[in-house]
Amino acid sequence: MVSMNDRLELAVGAKTAKALSGALELHTVGDLVHYYPRRYAERGQLTDIAGLELGEHATVMARVKSVNERRMREKRGWILEVVLTDGMRTLECKFFNQRHHAAKLKPGVSALFAGKVSIYHNKLQLTNPDYHPLDEDTDVDAIGEFIGLIPVYPATAKVQSWQLARCVRQTLGMLDPMEDPLPDKLRTRHGYISYDEAVRAIHQAKDWAGVNVAKERLKWGEALAVQLALAQRRHAALARPAPVCARKPAGLGAGFDQRLPFTLTAGQREVGEAIAVDLAKEHPMNRLLQGEVGSGKTVVALRAMLQVVDAGRQAALLAPTEVLAAQHARTLAAMLGDLAQAGELGGAEHATRIALLTGSLPAAQRKQALLDVVSGAAGIVIGTHALIQDKVEFADLGLVVVDEQHRFGVEQRDALRTRAGENKSPHVLVMTATPIPRTVAMTVYGDLETSSLRELPAGRSPISTAVVPVAEKPAWLDRAWQRVREEVAAGHQAYVVCPRIGEQQSADEDVNEALESDSDGRRPPLAVLDVAEELAAGQLSGLRLAVLHGRLPTDEKDAVMRSFAAGDLDVVVATTVVEVGVDVPNATAMVIMDADRFGVSQLHQLRGRVGRGKAAGVCLLVTESPAGTATRDRLDAVASTLDGFELARVDLEMRREGDILGATQSGKQSALKLLSLLRDEDLIAEARAEAQALVAHAPDLADFPGLAQMVANLVNDTRAEYLEKV
Ligand code: ADP
Ligand code: MG
Repeated sequence: MVSMNDRLELAVGAKTAKALSGALELHTVGDLVHYYPRRYAERGQLTDIAGLELGEHATVMARVKSVNERRMREKRGWILEVVLTDGMRTLECKFFNQRHHAAKLKPGVSALFAGKVSIYHNKLQLTNPDYHPLDEDTDVDAIGEFIGLIPVYPATAKVQSWQLARCVRQTLGMLDPMEDPLPDKLRTRHGYISYDEAVRAIHQAKDWAGVNVAKERLKWGEALAVQLALAQRRHAALARPAPVCARKPAGLGAGFDQRLPFTLTAGQREVGEAIAVDLAKEHPMNRLLQGEVGSGKTVVALRAMLQVVDAGRQAALLAPTEVLAAQHARTLAAMLGDLAQAGELGGAEHATRIALLTGSLPAAQRKQALLDVVSGAAGIVIGTHALIQDKVEFADLGLVVVDEQHRFGVEQRDALRTRAGENKSPHVLVMTATPIPRTVAMTVYGDLETSSLRELPAGRSPISTAVVPVAEKPAWLDRAWQRVREEVAAGHQAYVVCPRIGEQQSADEDVNEALESDSDGRRPPLAVLDVAEELAAGQLSGLRLAVLHGRLPTDEKDAVMRSFAAGDLDVVVATTVVEVGVDVPNATAMVIMDADRFGVSQLHQLRGRVGRGKAAGVCLLVTESPAGTATRDRLDAVASTLDGFELARVDLEMRREGDILGATQSGKQSALKLLSLLRDEDLIAEARAEAQALVAHAPDLADFPGLAQMVANLVNDTRAEYLEKV
């Protein structure tokens, strides 16, 4: 017999154990039994060949359609060409100098075939694949291995799916019943099968009903572990003391409200009220504010910051980029006027100061800013996430506002918790324009209260979006540039966005992450530097044009943004540095080159940069991807709606789940294997309610060691990146 922590040698022998650990990082019995099938094949149901992805190591169930043997030129040997079919499409297998396969692969034979999917002369093919013949007529295959459904594991060329199945079968046969982390009462109340039954059934499913029952049970366990961890976090966070910031009737906040040039929307007032109440409490606020691009989150944040300053404390505003931090500093200074000019001529009574801290500040300025922060002279401190997070000493930090956060997760939020004085945790307000589907809100942001701004301030103009398919309609691109010229002629401004900077590559450039994984032989994405040069000499000649990207020195970036904001530039050709928060109301047009290289949410964010003023905005998504492809569908989805929530859903569907909930690709083990944010909304909600009740009863889960262990495993899982990412 073996147990979960035993090395795999004990179960499968040294040679196989070595292959499993080398190819898939499966070292222990537990690793292997928790390595679940990706899908199941059903006897007689051939795998849909159209669904194969180029470059993937695929395992397909197919039937041999025809076999042909021929000599290679110059007598270099023999090629055996086996054509497989799924009944509709064909897939070619080529064996080089392996004529013996012809004896096993006769027309009509069904088998599992595994290999890397490639394309040759426009035809899908597998080269020198591995295969495992099956007998379609009986329940038992050629070597008597599979009964019922055939599990298909994430496999590699070194260890094929059917070899994994054999190892798992052997191992499960030697394993005592596994202990259930869920207390019996809890489990039976929700009607789930036991852990042992579920794990065995997921590998050796007799039928689909069996698979589903097992999956539900295991998913629920995963969801419960996440929700317990989050409930404990919420509980711990709420228990900490916070810097109390009572409202002041005649302070900066009141002064600011009086001079607001517009009336607040109902949403802004409502959320503002909730925040004001929270800030006056003795335990920290942890709130997520979501609101469409342009919904006016900044004002909400500023009013909160002023309440904190009025209470004699400091507020920090963290932005994801230096450009955005600098812009925030300018916007806030302009909005506050003399209220932010303490110590200057004309500064108002009770006035405070704004300190801007960016990495590239000249030494003297930086020193002054740090001094203002540590002395408390600056009530409002603006900087990038990285900077403020680890280096800066505050006199009395009361509130941290995190703006436009995409990659700012639980751990970073935790890092802030120790930043207030006297062992207190500052209040935290996280703002995002990327609408967060409910399931993500319940997991990645599960430790935050959420509020939403659902309406845009009155007088906003609509943005129209269109796809410019250059493959089919090359003339439309000319029309796009003409459109830009028209906008400029009408006194407006435009952005042109490209996925790449160009010329030399550097490690820290802020290109789209998607590019790095791009190895499928497409041409490199268009670059800012090339496109700008071409436009300046051609389609947009005569216009005042500048480039903006992450490789520019900060003061240059700043200068470009400033002259664009001042109307001294007509067109900015930029990377995604303009993605978040940039606010130039006079900009009305955006042309996004190689739009297919960007994600859905990113495109939505980008387009939010136009139509921020009185004039209508237009966004043109330029792409070479042909109609009917998934990529094109994605762009059409962006063009068809301005509803960020709808797009967030599309985005979630498009992204691999692993990107959100920790990696589950072959070889990487994660505590969350089956849970899907897209499909398991109800299950997550149910687990959340259960977790809240359990933690409210006993935060340390003392009565339920199994549950406590489950949470500990999750938290210890060093790859539990789902807590950090969206
Ligand atoms: P976002 O939510 O995208 O961060 P901002 O806070 O940048 O939006 O606001 C977008 C623009 O709308 C800013 O120019 C801001 O001054 C303006 N604004 C905010 N609230 C209102 C309001 N209630 N009425 C009119 N304009 C507003
Ligand atoms: Mg903003």
